[in-house]
Amino acid sequence: MRIYNVAIDGPAGAGKSTIAKKAAAELRFVYIDTGAMYRAMAVYFLDHGIDKNDEQAISEACKDIDIEIKYDAGNTQRVFLERVDVTDRLRTQEVGDTASVISVYKDVRKNLVALQRRLAESQNVIMDGRDIASVVLPYAEVKIYLTASSEVRAKRRYDELIAKGIECDFNAVKNEIEERDWRDMHRENSPLVRVPEAVLIDTSDMTIDEVAQKVIELVKEEMAKDI
Ligand code: C5P
Repeated sequence: MRIYNVAIDGPAGAGKSTIAKKAAAELRFVYIDTGAMYRAMAVYFLDHGIDKNDEQAISEACKDIDIEIKYDAGNTQRVFLERVDVTDRLRTQEVGDTASVISVYKDVRKNLVALQRRLAESQNVIMDGRDIASVVLPYAEVKIYLTASSEVRAKRRYDELIAKGIECDFNAVKNEIEERDWRDMHRENSPLVRVPEAVLIDTSDMTIDEVAQKVIELVKEEMAKDI
């Protein structure tokens, strides 16, 4: 049977994980969240007191870090770091900031890219991240670049934090998003780029359902070519 790989890239807050999860559930594909893997690496460095700016110490530590991906009964991705499920620790601000800094290092990316390719080899997947179409799965059957204005992305993030009861300032949230974009787009190793063949979807004025349906349509069109 033919295996289909779907690559979704884009900046923080474009809606990648929500959309990818929804489309994967409907298509019965496996959803792979690669950001969670970088976040798990960040947890390791935080737990071991390794300075996120010390590339040499980080490269040295990368040789030993064991990260595994499993799925629970509800088909939700769980990330295991050193055989411990750290999934519930990944979404904090501190872990996100650290992940954004350490993901620029070559040695951090090397093992994770190998793991991501292995996961996509034997099953239909929708994988989201920053370098999926450009580096991880350059032969993916469907490539999508999801984006939205930084204003809209910051508003989504701000609303999320307020809903969680976390006090924050809209401009600070927006600055932080723009800083993260800059780091992702300008790093030497695997920067965030839109490959020319990727379908561009600007989600600024679209609902989650509209975007998910668009992604599903693109995948179905691709699958229909083989019938
Ligand atoms: O997408 P998420 O915010 O969970 O990703 C955390 C960080 O990991 C991002 O800010 C980005 O710098 C990095 N990342 C990456 N390559 C990927 C996925 C995430 O560099 N494929």
